Amino acid sequence: MKIIIIANRLPVKIEREEEGFCIVRSEGGLATGLGSLETDSDIYWVGWPGIHSEDENEKQEISERLHEMNFHPVFLSADQIENYYEGYSNSTIWPLCHYFFSYIEYKTEYWEAYQEVNRLFCKETIPFIEKDDMIWVQDYQLMLLPKMIRTEKPDANIGYFHHIPFPSYELFRVLPQRKVILEGLLGADLIGFHTHDYMRHFISAIYRVLDLNCSLDEINLQDRIVHVDAFPMGINYEQYHHAPALPAVREKSEILRQELGDTTVILSVDRLDYSKGILHRLQGFKQFLEHNPEYHEKVSLAMIVVPSRDNVDIYADLKTKIDQTIGEINGLYSRLEWTPIHYFYRGFSFEELIAMYDVSGIALVTPLRDGMNLVAKEYLATKNSHSGVLILSEMAGAAIELQDAITINPNDSDEIESAILEALRMPEQEKKARLQNMQKRISKQSVKKWANDFVKELQSIKTQNKEIL
Ligand code: UDP
Repeated sequence: MKIIIIANRLPVKIEREEEGFCIVRSEGGLATGLGSLETDSDIYWVGWPGIHSEDENEKQEISERLHEMNFHPVFLSADQIENYYEGYSNSTIWPLCHYFFSYIEYKTEYWEAYQEVNRLFCKETIPFIEKDDMIWVQDYQLMLLPKMIRTEKPDANIGYFHHIPFPSYELFRVLPQRKVILEGLLGADLIGFHTHDYMRHFISAIYRVLDLNCSLDEINLQDRIVHVDAFPMGINYEQYHHAPALPAVREKSEILRQELGDTTVILSVDRLDYSKGILHRLQGFKQFLEHNPEYHEKVSLAMIVVPSRDNVDIYADLKTKIDQTIGEINGLYSRLEWTPIHYFYRGFSFEELIAMYDVSGIALVTPLRDGMNLVAKEYLATKNSHSGVLILSEMAGAAIELQDAITINPNDSDEIESAILEALRMPEQEKKARLQNMQKRISKQSVKKWANDFVKELQSIKTQNKEIL
């Protein structure tokens, strides 16, 4: 038996070189979790290799090299990337699931490309599937795939995990393709979400749109039961917890500490995305500076924004607004020896990021909606010898597990301001107690546990189904 992971992206980076190309494994959370699965089964990946090529020889060569790593590439055309990935996935489903109703784009060509690419993924995967294999489909780019595979392989053991929020029925109903999307997902035996709330929204959509008989965690089809469960995704806790002691990180942290002196750093880290509440955070910080001049020169906000989708208009506009707002705040409050906001518009290496987590006294995480938010967990895990306070939006999936954070509604700039004050004034003992509680929780709910729990449940559903037959 093997486990076949199907994801929009393979966990690799392929870079063209003067002669040929090089392939580097990129260990995101998902790849790390799956890499630590307690299983003897081989793991195969199917996904887009992240490189566009029209050259058949090059594609052949890339495929051969990837197959040696148990990766099977699905090549997409420029048109498919535009309409399936940037289009239906990121301009229809993404804003829908993050409650950005007015940003949803309804275009026939997006929907057509989405179906076409899901069919392509199905066609590429089917030849790999052998009896008793487990198939685990990842995320919102491939919601039609479980049913497509089920049609070809009726006895297959199929799981699906939704990494982003699932919205309330009242929002989901606006999607013209709501019925087909839900039917696509019901091809799976097990559907996983980060939280019980997303699960509840999904079950309610199934009941309202498809009028199926369901309970809190099961959907009864004529010939099968689809199981639904919550699996909050975690991080590789040990890796983050011990990272500040790495020589390369220590060196960076020491330089930062010298440069910062007595300044308390409030850190924020996000991809450029409207769901992350970056402008709301800036508004809250501005208000904090306006009302609390005694903290000028003592507190700075370090804002890391990782470039993402900035060829899309909405994202480019957001970037312009962020640049302008930071410019205004710094223009208003900067002194020669103090900058209120340090702004980095680039990706950080692992070591640089850990050093930033390490030296920052407060993490300010303010998404308007977020499936989970791993940055919040990484920040807490990294706090080893130094303490830190987490301010976390109640709209992030992580808020359910991280009850000892200072929670805020990111739409309320008064709350952001008072949360910053509370964090700055928090006694050291309280900081430690809160941190310990949250660290205990996230060290148990690691990404390894997340992957193992899902696979075990899918495996046990398969055993149950066999017994029924
Ligand atoms: N991250 C990164 N480089 C950076 C900044 C962040 O690789 O310069 C990583 C970060 O460590 C985290 C991920 O990006 O693992 C962001 O995950 P999160 O769940 O917070 O948000 P997402 O981007 O998935 O919506």
